Amino acid sequence: MKTDYLDLYSNLNNFQIEIIKSTAEWVNKHVRPFIEDSFVSGKSLSLKNELANLGAFGPIFPEKYGGLDFDFISYGLMMKELEKGDSSIRVASSIQTSLVMFAIYTYGTEEQKLKYLPPLSKGEIIGSFAMSEPSHGSDISNLKTSFTLENNKLIIKGSKLWIGNADNSDIVIVWAKNHLQKVQAIVVETKDISNFQSTTLKNKLSFRASHTGELFFDNSIVHHDQILPKTSSIKDAYKCLNIGRYAVAWGALGIAEECYETSLKYSLERTQFGKPIAGKQLIQKKLVDMITEITKAQLLVLKIGELMNKGLISYEQISMAKRNNVKIAHTVAKEARQILGGMGITHDYSIMRHMVNLETLITYQGTNEMHILITGRDITGISAF
Ligand SMILES: Cc1cc2nc3c(=O)[nH]c(=O)nc-3n(C[C@H](O)[C@H](O)[C@H](O)COP(=O)(O)OP(=O)(O)OC[C@H]3O[C@@H](n4cnc5c(N)ncnc54)[C@H](O)[C@@H]3O)c2cc1C
Repeated sequence: MKTDYLDLYSNLNNFQIEIIKSTAEWVNKHVRPFIEDSFVSGKSLSLKNELANLGAFGPIFPEKYGGLDFDFISYGLMMKELEKGDSSIRVASSIQTSLVMFAIYTYGTEEQKLKYLPPLSKGEIIGSFAMSEPSHGSDISNLKTSFTLENNKLIIKGSKLWIGNADNSDIVIVWAKNHLQKVQAIVVETKDISNFQSTTLKNKLSFRASHTGELFFDNSIVHHDQILPKTSSIKDAYKCLNIGRYAVAWGALGIAEECYETSLKYSLERTQFGKPIAGKQLIQKKLVDMITEITKAQLLVLKIGELMNKGLISYEQISMAKRNNVKIAHTVAKEARQILGGMGITHDYSIMRHMVNLETLITYQGTNEMHILITGRDITGISAF
């Protein structure tokens, strides 16, 4: 089966090919046998030790901080293979790497980096990234969570919604405003903090194998050293989102490849009207559209990864890749589901699970609409937000 129609992956170096192989094997062993039950029950697979052993926590950072010095294409390939297993697995790696470790690596002091990054990379501590709020999602620059400084203490007040790992994280990167409306990030150690509560949302029909929740800070007190000193605006949070969106673009491609492979195989095996449905023109049209869009999406993320490796990327370019790859994965999954007929709605196959996970990918890390506005502003010079 040829999911790499233009042989694009044959240009990868040996290390990158090995990343695909070893991550796919890891997914076959730790995810595929268990994920359907996990998704249906809404209980996460809790693979933090296994993900750490794979190197999926912070591989893009220097070894000094527990990383593996991965280039961005290797990182993207790993995200693609993890998301073929399930979005919850890719997101576990992605929150820790793109959001939490990246924030500390980019905006922390050397002391903070040495304190937090190595244990995060080993999975000894788990982090979460608390930006979104009940009343502020897309217009996050108006966030309301506040902090004040009193005698070497920071006092945090506000609530955060939709936070991955909310209920099981050891540290939270909290984005909040001071009295001058300056946004900064604070590393909150959840075990030592007072007047703090976290909950897990029970009513999610997407990302079911990933825990998402709410955080409440009611004049919670942390030491002033916990602020990430190089943060000064919400734009600093957006830089973390760039790496997250890049991971989503690759992950969505993984879903599209998985759904295409499943439906192509099924269509060759399923016989109706005396021959395999793969021999029917309308089915071939679906499969052809899928592989064409997948090929274009592969080209897009490989190019974006190349630009990231050279340090020549713009956030608008990453935004385009995130929106495009999630969009094509959504269409591919829908068509693939139809090719499987009734079997497509069961969890004997992964497609329906991927389909509902894609509903989250469309919304989080910037909604589809927000990414249109980002590209629109970039090409016209006029903001339509
Ligand atoms: C499963 C899941 C996990 C998440 N994990 C995290 C996390 O770990 N950390 C975190 O901080 N956040 C997280 N989020 C939050 C996510 O980033 C937000 O849901 C997202 O930013 C959208 O915000 P909202 O849901 O409040 O939607 P809203 O901003 O209320 O948007 C509602 C709709 O209005 C549209 N809209 C808004 N403004 C405009 C406009 N100007 N023009 C046109 N359309 C517009 C949007 O595109 C959308 O369709 C997560 C979300 C989900 C669902």
